Amino acid sequence: MLRSAWTTDPFARGSHSFIPTGSTPAGREDLATPVLGRLFFAGEATSTDLPGTVLGAQASGSRAASQVASVAQPGERIAVIGAGVAGAEAARNLTLAGYNVVVIEARNRVGGRIDSRKSSSWPVGVELGAWRLARQPDAVLLSQLTSLGVQTNPLSPSLLASTSASGTADPIGSKAVADAAAWAAAQPTDSSLERALDKSGAARAADGTDVNGLAGSGLLDHQLQWIATATGADPSALSSWYAVNDIAAYDRVVTGGFDRLVTDALTGVTTSLSTAVAGVSYGDSGVSLKLGTGESLAVDRAVVTVPLGVLKRGSITFGPLLPLAHRSAIAEIGVGTVETVWLRFNKPFWSTDAAAWGLVGTDNDITNWVNLEAITGEPVLVGIVGGRAARDIVGLSDDELLTAAMRSLEPFAEL
Ligand SMILES: Cc1cc2nc3c(=O)[nH]c(=O)nc-3n(C[C@H](O)[C@H](O)[C@H](O)COP(=O)(O)OP(=O)(O)OC[C@H]3O[C@@H](n4cnc5c(N)ncnc54)[C@H](O)[C@@H]3O)c2cc1C
Repeated sequence: MLRSAWTTDPFARGSHSFIPTGSTPAGREDLATPVLGRLFFAGEATSTDLPGTVLGAQASGSRAASQVASVAQPGERIAVIGAGVAGAEAARNLTLAGYNVVVIEARNRVGGRIDSRKSSSWPVGVELGAWRLARQPDAVLLSQLTSLGVQTNPLSPSLLASTSASGTADPIGSKAVADAAAWAAAQPTDSSLERALDKSGAARAADGTDVNGLAGSGLLDHQLQWIATATGADPSALSSWYAVNDIAAYDRVVTGGFDRLVTDALTGVTTSLSTAVAGVSYGDSGVSLKLGTGESLAVDRAVVTVPLGVLKRGSITFGPLLPLAHRSAIAEIGVGTVETVWLRFNKPFWSTDAAAWGLVGTDNDITNWVNLEAITGEPVLVGIVGGRAARDIVGLSDDELLTAAMRSLEPFAEL
């Protein structure tokens, strides 16, 4: 078993950003606004088009590099804080533009929330962070990955649902969510997805249905758990106005080497690993970084790409304080939680070739599984949880998690 722990990771503090009820995507633009022409922000939380994704993070890195280039003099020294995909893309663009770039990364590896594990004991490459691609926007990413020789596999969207009864999951849950969002769109104020499901009557309508022996309420719960794996957010927090309609429909998985996207961008760029930035002082004449090692680094400008969860925690102190619009954005945009569990077996204990499995109407900790055997031929199952379920499993010991995972897989042994 390999597992992630993004919820408690000091250099992530969550999975990715989402818009909570009552907030708007405008905060992302505020966060992306340069401060005094010295500080620039990038990272998935600053993307308005594709927040919470690899592609959105990558695009934010090139946007920040253009912002720097519009004010910097040739040859200036620029620090990029964070070597995730946003930082790597910013660094690549700034280096190509002729600046003297240094990347400062807290971890002992690059990639950030792309965490590719290489081990000879695993028949497929394990991705503990980002690992799915959505058809439309990620066509760009897919062509980059293909040219880097990264293995990706189509993921059939068909979902097999199981409890005591089993069958192909009916779209009752997705219809209820769409109905709730349509109701919310016509209201004078935003409401959470949970409230919209209740007040619109969509949850009640689903409750009264029963398909293939699967209760409609269970199918709706399962849909909400699936949404939590994509957004990291609980339905009680998610904005019906801004967060429900554009949830990514993933149809490809990366099985190894996703981090090549980052290592390739950083080729030839000076990168300082295991160096956390603790403080950023900025003014009209430049930027000084206080490093966790106790040293200071003076640069002309800095691109800050650390995750929103890290900014929320105040792990980096800014002097002077960031402008109010930035501080409001950091406070208002939400940070979700998603965790993955990868299990490797000697041989399959299941016979179904459905690639996506869901547990309906149970109290299991992990209700969404991807069967990699169906798409790679290797007996590997990936459990994915979001929102409260992710916060719950991160507190389990390895033994407890394995027991919980095997319990939730029991119904599939009969298939
Ligand atoms: C479990 C999970 C599944 C996901 N699945 C998908 C998916 O399938 N598809 C998709 O498109 N997206 C997915 N995402 C989201 C995607 O991973 C992120 O949007 C993207 O990788 C973020 O890149 P970034 O550069 O903005 O941030 P990061 O990759 O987090 O990079 C920020 C860097 O800053 C560093 N840092 C933090 N603090 C400091 C400090 N004090 N000093 C110096 N450095 C610091 C971090 O170590 C990190 O390397 C997933 C995320 C998670 C957690």
